[in-house]
Amino acid sequence: TKTLHIIGAGMAGSEAAWQAANAGVPVVLHEMRPKVETFAHKTGNFAEMVCSNSFRSDDDEQNAVGLLHWEMRQAGGLVISMADQHALPAGGALAVDREPFAEAITAKLRAHPLITVSDDEITALPPADQPTIIATGPLTSGALAEAIRAETGEEALAFFDAIAPIVYAESIDMSKAWFQSRYDKGETEEERKAYLNCPMDKATYEAFIDALIESDKTEFHEGETAKYFDGCLPIEVMAERGRETLRFGPMKPVGLTNPHEPDVKPYAVVQLRRDNALGTLFNIVGFQTKMKYGAQADILRMIPGLEEARFARLGGIHRNTFLNSPTLLDGQMRLRSKPHIRFAGQITGVEGYVESCSMGLLAARLAVAELTGRDLPPVPSDTAIGALVTHITGGADAKTFQPMNVNFGLFPPIDAKGGRRGRKERYKAYTDRAKVSWAGWLEHFDAAEKPETV
Ligand code: FAD
Repeated sequence: TKTLHIIGAGMAGSEAAWQAANAGVPVVLHEMRPKVETFAHKTGNFAEMVCSNSFRSDDDEQNAVGLLHWEMRQAGGLVISMADQHALPAGGALAVDREPFAEAITAKLRAHPLITVSDDEITALPPADQPTIIATGPLTSGALAEAIRAETGEEALAFFDAIAPIVYAESIDMSKAWFQSRYDKGETEEERKAYLNCPMDKATYEAFIDALIESDKTEFHEGETAKYFDGCLPIEVMAERGRETLRFGPMKPVGLTNPHEPDVKPYAVVQLRRDNALGTLFNIVGFQTKMKYGAQADILRMIPGLEEARFARLGGIHRNTFLNSPTLLDGQMRLRSKPHIRFAGQITGVEGYVESCSMGLLAARLAVAELTGRDLPPVPSDTAIGALVTHITGGADAKTFQPMNVNFGLFPPIDAKGGRRGRKERYKAYTDRAKVSWAGWLEHFDAAEKPETV
């Protein structure tokens, strides 16, 4: 059997190596740490949890993340089984004792007879005769990211998540703000009133710019380089580039009439856009920022109408390398332009430890099937793993593609037999259906002809 190369021994790469090797396929697992560090990882261990120590809900009947846990357990997942072995008490969540967890995964992979670990940083795409899974994560090292970008094109590889602050609608002062789209654009009344506007006079604008420039900012970590983010500049950087930049950018006051003061032309306008279907949340358009949270809330409350604003989420910008998978990957997680390369993990546009790990599991099984000539049906889209991969490789809108957590909204709807079901009953129906499908798919994998080299 051909050797499978896996680049990155994080959540996805570690799981992928285990799955492939256990199916009899020799693996070379390339991990650059500890030789080359990232700003978030602290050790040389595989599958290091870089921030929280939680795998989130472990409820496999009512929760889509819990269902992912279940599916990975059924597939003999290494990461989930080590999480179970090193679980900490955390109510319904699967919290993990992170160091022994990562050490155990590292030891298991290093001890596996079919896995060779190589501690090098990979800086180029693999040659055509080398089947490879790239699982280098949100902090993919620079040279490899450049090589991927050269292949995919600039637009198709993102380097940052730029998060604009989100405000609770009920905390906005509607005696100052008003609904209107610029130039009343839109087919329907709803579209013509899609934005909430907060007007500023000159003095308020000038004070706001001063506050932005003087504010306390989070620095980019070393290696998180600010080189790529020209398309989503933080507001304070725009303010530093020129006092008028914002007034000619996201805060331009054109095409709007303030019904509270129709005769006064606003000097600048901050716009907010609906952030959820219920209309309870609004994000401040173009206001991605690296201002520290405390400073940020105070400065945003200088905006007329937002004096009492409560924030559902403050703004931020962080490094997250991810592909525009709907355009770049096929349903087998292969790069369309170079099908000997698969991608897995957060770089495919899923979000979180559990999701990343599950995509490693799937990519490895798909690679194994291809390398060993197993005939596999497509992974069922009514399983959690299938719903995720269907979303990233085709279901999601490529134009607005953003990293995704697993959720029941990605599953094909459940037939509402006998009228409307309650939410609990519906979620149970989703997870019941998924379990049957996943077990069937795994059986198919196991029953398929095995490689002779096992
Ligand atoms: P990773 O786990 O990051 O693994 C990628 C591996 O590839 C790393 O070991 C890296 O060293 C290696 N690598 C990179 N480039 C190369 C190269 N060129 N050659 C060889 N090896 C390479 N998710 C959560 O669920 N909860 C959280 O609290 C959370 N907090 C986060 C905080 C930060 C700062 C970041 C950046 C991410 C966070 N995430 C969190 C997301 C989390 O990183 C991912 O969910 C998960 O770790 C992704 O798994 P992965 O296998 O795709 O990438």
